[in-house]
Amino acid sequence: MPELPEVEALAADLGERLIGRTIRRVDVTEIAALKTFDPSVDALHGAVFTEIGRRGKHLVLSVDSGLHLVLHLARSGWVRWRDASPRPTAGRGRGPLAARVVLEPPSADAAGNPLGGDGVDVTEQATHKRLAIHVVEHPDQVLSIATLGPEPLDEAFTEERFAALLAHAGRAQIKGVLRDQRRIAGIGNAYSDEILHVAKMSPFHPASMPAADVRRLYDALRQVLGDAVDRARGVPASSLRAEKKQGMRVHGRKGEACPVCGDTVRQVIYADSTFEYCATCQTGGKSLADRVLSRLGIRR
Ligand SMILES: [Zn+2]
Repeated sequence: MPELPEVEALAADLGERLIGRTIRRVDVTEIAALKTFDPSVDALHGAVFTEIGRRGKHLVLSVDSGLHLVLHLARSGWVRWRDASPRPTAGRGRGPLAARVVLEPPSADAAGNPLGGDGVDVTEQATHKRLAIHVVEHPDQVLSIATLGPEPLDEAFTEERFAALLAHAGRAQIKGVLRDQRRIAGIGNAYSDEILHVAKMSPFHPASMPAADVRRLYDALRQVLGDAVDRARGVPASSLRAEKKQGMRVHGRKGEACPVCGDTVRQVIYADSTFEYCATCQTGGKSLADRVLSRLGIRR
């Protein structure tokens, strides 16, 4: 799933390509992905892109008529730039294409051939589709944006604000608190693993914690996200997922050596997902999987 750093880089990449360009049409091929019906998608036709931004893990594509096309890519969604004009039936009703933005020609090339027909394809590779597309007059009309917590890289997100947020979360496990979009925007399963590893903190640690632990976690959060944003900046959309994976120290690295201590990175299977941690760095050597099993009364 693209998280804050990837969506930020996607927004920058798309901004360079889209701002100033006119929408010829928007085709939604995965109807279930479209969460709004008024204004209709057709209301975007003829509009010019003015700004491409990010709110949490949402991409917000704004046009000159005041409307916003909001995309939440969920776990398996992605946005690809398409150079060539598509064949009229390409991708329709099959494959992972969920929506297609087709642009008007901006001009002609040196040989006088009109450019254009290029644009953006929104795709989702998943059996259970979770991608969400909205057309709204204001981004806050999207509930998952209206309820977003603070942006963790903003100036206003101070250590004091973080401490208050953690105190409010009380006994809730820190892994879940970091991922909760209503508490903090933009962090998902991967970067929460990375932040907790850098902070040398158990994913099951209670959110309410002593000031020294808050400081360590805050520093880790800003460092991990800041580094990831720096790494992703300027990386084209097509390479962002590989770039994200490469930058991970423990997330998705079950069985590999921890880059800090050399212990084997372990995995916890949790509801419908998994996460990774280093027992030596984060849990005093204790296995979290064993803890989960013992809580369920299972002996091994
Ligand atoms: Zn380690």
